[in-house]
Amino acid sequence: MTSMRLRFLPLALAALVSPSLSQAQPQTQAFDGQVSRDGVTLYYQDAAGALAAPVRKRIIDTFYFAYLRERADFRPAAPNEVRIVIDPAYTGVAFVGDKDKASTITINPGWLAQHPDDIDLVTHEAMHIVQGYPSYGDKRVPGWLVEGIADYARDRYGMNNAAAGWALPDKLSQGQTVESGYRVTGAFLKWAEAAHPGLVLALDKDLRDGRYAPALWQKHTGKTLPALWTEYAKPRSPAPAPPPARRAKRR
Ligand SMILES: [Zn+2]
Repeated sequence: MTSMRLRFLPLALAALVSPSLSQAQPQTQAFDGQVSRDGVTLYYQDAAGALAAPVRKRIIDTFYFAYLRERADFRPAAPNEVRIVIDPAYTGVAFVGDKDKASTITINPGWLAQHPDDIDLVTHEAMHIVQGYPSYGDKRVPGWLVEGIADYARDRYGMNNAAAGWALPDKLSQGQTVESGYRVTGAFLKWAEAAHPGLVLALDKDLRDGRYAPALWQKHTGKTLPALWTEYAKPRSPAPAPPPARRAKRR
């Protein structure tokens, strides 16, 4: 897995792209290798040598802890070859691509340098590989539900969420809906799953088969999605603002 090209060219690029990171961790070096555990092979590529060995180990351990469980619970036939690419040129946090990149997690090392405890971003992305839905962000595969399931999985399979200050919210903020996605939808899914065990698994299968439709909530729970959301949201919505007169008296 090691080549001269990967070893030397990106090191020069890294110095140009992120000099502060290079200065902070001068002893890092390009890494390109593979590891296999429990039937899953992980190719790990950090051509720029952006992350030190202890961070790399944490990423790999977190990946295996989450992916093996997510895969076993949701889709045992999910890919048994996965790639993690550390890319200093990527300015987001992390993502899983589509088509030939459907089993590749790309991570921005700058984010992990600033948020070292946010390691369970790997758990969220690993779930996207298990999901392997036929599309993203359309009627059959709504983005809010895809991201809600990925954060539901981060909550369920994450190793370090509490230390990262990451949790599913127990309250709603103004304007949030079931379609807010991510943690908002993840918390709703956890609540709905508790009342209707197997719901998330069923929705995941619907999405993968390309046959998701809002009416399926009724089929799986006996209630419509708006009815479920109302039931969930009522006790969790923000209290009305105090009347202005009372505030005006305060000094
Ligand atoms: Zn995501």
